[in-house]
Amino acid sequence: TLMLSLRITPFGERKRQRLVVGRDITKIYHLNMIRRDFVANASHELRTPLTVIAGFLEPLIDAPTTPANHQRPLILMHNQTERMRSIIEDLLTLSRLDMSDHPDEQQSVDVPDELHLILQEARTLSNGQHCVETDIDDDLLLFGNQPELHSAFSNLIFNAIKHTPEGTRIRIGWSTDRSGPCFSVEDDGPGIAPEHLPRLTERFYRVDRARSRESGGTGLGLAIVKHVLNRHDGRLTISSEVGQGTIFSCRFPPARGSCRDEMDVLGAG
Ligand code: ADP
Repeated sequence: TLMLSLRITPFGERKRQRLVVGRDITKIYHLNMIRRDFVANASHELRTPLTVIAGFLEPLIDAPTTPANHQRPLILMHNQTERMRSIIEDLLTLSRLDMSDHPDEQQSVDVPDELHLILQEARTLSNGQHCVETDIDDDLLLFGNQPELHSAFSNLIFNAIKHTPEGTRIRIGWSTDRSGPCFSVEDDGPGIAPEHLPRLTERFYRVDRARSRESGGTGLGLAIVKHVLNRHDGRLTISSEVGQGTIFSCRFPPARGSCRDEMDVLGAG
């Protein structure tokens, strides 16, 4: 089959005239498919050996027969295998998201409930070192795929904790207005320089490679967020100012939002 990309633009003097430019993107499409399959297969193949290595390392660390001077290298090896495991899991998640434009299973997701769960984990991760505030509309639900939305929202919340220093104020918002439901994470951390902003959602793009690794990041979080939003007809906007902080906002079409009461009425009916 031939894949065409069409661009239609107004043309000429008369209002109704249009210029249609068609581009054959068959090759790009196939190359993209090969890349996608390769990443999915490679990640899948790497998963099993890594599970075996981790499985042998864990009991060795705690074994009474392990010499004391082997403990530290074993723990380091174990931490690195865990890092590899997170990267592989994120790559597999991305390939799954790449397979289609829309999630198979969608339902009314109880976003406030998801956020409360994520915030419990986030508070453990932050260990009380961040000041987390919330402004969550407890009645606002979102039509979509629950695991995907959970992973997008948790990536943004964990990022605000991982990439900002102690004492940073983080505000989590979930509300709706005429332009639709909006989830936001705002921090008054170090901010991100403007030249990095357009590239943040690229795979493995990090502002500070060494620091991101230290914080346990895979460099794939924002790529996952962007994919999930695209699949939900949503849009991610990032605004940031160095020294002031960063705001990540996820905006969804109004039709995806609903009120808990509406659902009850529908459920009862
Ligand atoms: P990572 O696994 O490194 O967190 P992400 O794709 O989630 O990867 O994020 C990409 C980069 O964006 C991070 O490495 C970090 O440099 C930057 N970043 C993300 N969130 C924030 C934030 N709230 N404040 C400052 N920098 C951030």
